[in-house]
Amino acid sequence: MRMAKFRCPTFSSQLVIDLDAFAANYHAVRDHVSPSGCGAVVKADAYGLGARRLASRLHREGCRTFFVAQLCEALDLRAALPPGCTIVILNGLDPGGEQACADWGFVPVLNSDNQVRRWRYTARLRGRPLPAGLQLDTGMSRLGLSNASALALAQDGSLSSDIDLRFVMTHLACADEPDAAANDEQLRRFEQLTMSFPGVPRSIANSSGTTLSSSYHLDFVRAGIALYGVPTRPLSLKIFPVVRLCARILQIRELSPGTGVGYGLTYTASGPQYVATLALGYADGWPRGRGNIGAAWHRDVRLPIVGRISMDSMTVDISGVPPGEIAEGDFVDLICPNQTLDDIAAGADTIPYELLTRLGGRHARAYVEDNVTTLHMPGEAY
Ligand SMILES: *Cc1c(COP(=O)(O)O)cnc(C)c1O
Repeated sequence: MRMAKFRCPTFSSQLVIDLDAFAANYHAVRDHVSPSGCGAVVKADAYGLGARRLASRLHREGCRTFFVAQLCEALDLRAALPPGCTIVILNGLDPGGEQACADWGFVPVLNSDNQVRRWRYTARLRGRPLPAGLQLDTGMSRLGLSNASALALAQDGSLSSDIDLRFVMTHLACADEPDAAANDEQLRRFEQLTMSFPGVPRSIANSSGTTLSSSYHLDFVRAGIALYGVPTRPLSLKIFPVVRLCARILQIRELSPGTGVGYGLTYTASGPQYVATLALGYADGWPRGRGNIGAAWHRDVRLPIVGRISMDSMTVDISGVPPGEIAEGDFVDLICPNQTLDDIAAGADTIPYELLTRLGGRHARAYVEDNVTTLHMPGEAY
């Protein structure tokens, strides 16, 4: 991440990340799928929350398998984890990344014939089998070998001299729709195809996949979003919120009836009204589509957003707060128990995954662990 040369003495918004809740969510998923295993998906900097920090905590909780998307994420993570952990690269093997991947002992997921070929070639150069997972496409048409390629590979007697096959996996297209026929269809295809890889551990489920029937747990699951505090559907696990977000009030003003607010003057005050401008905008990951929709919160008082969201600010109506109770410089909540990631996403034509991964680097970050808070100012390594 971008490093500031001097410590910024103040901040405009704060992201609070509760590592104890995060650990509890990991145990909830792990207990739910036991005796199947539970690996943690920490790609995209642990969905924006800080992969090194979060993976270290999971290691303390007993997690030993971590999934990232890219080689650069694996390299970033390895320094934070003690030896003996497995780091899996879900997107597989970029051309040119083979040597680094082999040097560091990462486990690429081989998704295409080309990736298989390049990894086998690397193994032969090194004179030993290299570890890998294999992804099979069972209907999502995103990543993974076709049936024909998978079967050809299974029948190739020399595969094991090149590749130490750690697992076979596939990914569900509709795991969050428990009634979708595609789930059973993908499971059936996967079970059939993996008969050609006897004894190799199998994995199909992401977070929502774990709450489909236990036939989806197989040897291990790959849990992401549930660990970060977003409840899975159908709701069956006890998931605690992990993230809070608050922003500072930059200015408070009184509007007379008929006054417009923000770009395009898309909001007009209907009566006398108090509004506050908050130091958080779409450059901080707040969906611009939330202009005139949604709210911030002051304790249990809803503060409706008025006007468009700007890059670095938004304006909210604070008329519902008793006079004198909030002032310039105070903080109000954007993500909080009154307004969950699911609530925000639902009104903004997006999903909690996108909200989390877009929060960006301008917030101060407070990690809460064992009831101790560590604060990182904006731009500081975390
Ligand atoms: C991102 C990802 C996951 C984790 O998904 P969640 O819905 O966040 O649990 C699991 N498997 C693969 C292949 C992924 O890309």
